[in-house]
Amino acid sequence: MLVKTILNHCYKFKSFVYKNAHLLSDDKRNPIIIVDIEARTNGQKLCSACQHPSPGYDRLKPRTYKFVPLWGIPVFFRYARRRVNCPIHGVIVEDIPWAEGKGHLTTVFKVFLSFWAKHLSWSTVAKIYKVQWYHVFESIEWVVEYGLGHRCLDKIKAIGIDEIQYRMGHVYLTLVYQIDSYSRRLLYIGQDRKAKSLLRFFYLFGQVRTSALEVVCCDMWKPYLKVIAKKVPQALNILDRFHIIKKFNEAIDKTRRKEAQELEDAGLEPILKHSRWCLLKNKKNQKESQLAKLKVLLKHNLKSVKCMLLREAFQKFWTYRSTYWAKRFFDQWMDRVNRSNIDAMKKVAKMLKRHEQLIFNWFKAKEHFSNGIAEGFNNKAKLTIKKAYGFKLFRTVQVALYHQLGNLPVPELTHTFY
Ligand SMILES: [Zn+2]
Repeated sequence: MLVKTILNHCYKFKSFVYKNAHLLSDDKRNPIIIVDIEARTNGQKLCSACQHPSPGYDRLKPRTYKFVPLWGIPVFFRYARRRVNCPIHGVIVEDIPWAEGKGHLTTVFKVFLSFWAKHLSWSTVAKIYKVQWYHVFESIEWVVEYGLGHRCLDKIKAIGIDEIQYRMGHVYLTLVYQIDSYSRRLLYIGQDRKAKSLLRFFYLFGQVRTSALEVVCCDMWKPYLKVIAKKVPQALNILDRFHIIKKFNEAIDKTRRKEAQELEDAGLEPILKHSRWCLLKNKKNQKESQLAKLKVLLKHNLKSVKCMLLREAFQKFWTYRSTYWAKRFFDQWMDRVNRSNIDAMKKVAKMLKRHEQLIFNWFKAKEHFSNGIAEGFNNKAKLTIKKAYGFKLFRTVQVALYHQLGNLPVPELTHTFY
């Protein structure tokens, strides 16, 4: 069977035909396949800017476009592109169905690379398919742009807002997710975590869609709360477990660091060394060594441990069915914190008291979605950033996050190449 036959089976064009396929190699070790493409004589020549049929002008030198490899052998299309004289755009290159713009990769190859980059690291994909790292990036960027241009943002009722650190030195991103039970995906990535970062989302989202929102889940970050109150006053603003745990953990960490320093200054045994994760992590996620460490810590009368126990005690709050009993529990827990001598935890309690309404709103909205969504998204976003190590630029992080979490539509191909 000829390569041409396979290509015609998988990827056929209206106005172009595959000619000969050549196997080229200088030393038999690095062979490549070149497939020549020609335009049908009776086919129309289209302007690449407006797809309007236009008269021919001249022909450029042939160049190659990388396609999906065959049995590990790189495949290239070769074609001498014509220029047309468009009534609107003047002399311009013709439109070709297998590639866009000035790039050297075919659309199919971009979709192919982008598919694998969802499952493997970008550098692994580059290595396996013998392309440069920026080719992988360029492919994903193209697929993401396509997806953003073709996604539907209608009928969104519930959104979640989160901040995430993506670089050392307090460099944050604002992420907005759809958290409806029937569709969960990343909708927006904003630079920084200022009011401006979130305002831009609502600007892009549009007034009609914004006024149809019923639930907004976010953390206690003041700039966000301000924007939500102004832009979506009709929606139920809720605070879920994840955002509260985040605050607890910050308080535990702060207390632990302070206490460790105090122990050291007093010349006492440094029992809090290497205890960060055994205090922060959920008990069921702890390694055996961490549990053993925790056992030791529990024997000492430490503020850090008390802090952790207060966090654990609060978990009961989410199990209540009636808001009446939840409220009683909430007040009792508040008393317990206020009687303790842990400043960082008292501060969190104060903050919770201030946002009591938001916390109790959770009971009203809990039928709509589960408690774990915000946390799930946050973990996935962190993992994406971590996996794509070396991502320093905002644009790269943005593309990676949309690619992994955006649930974006992918260009439809007549054949699935992966
Ligand atoms: Zn045109």
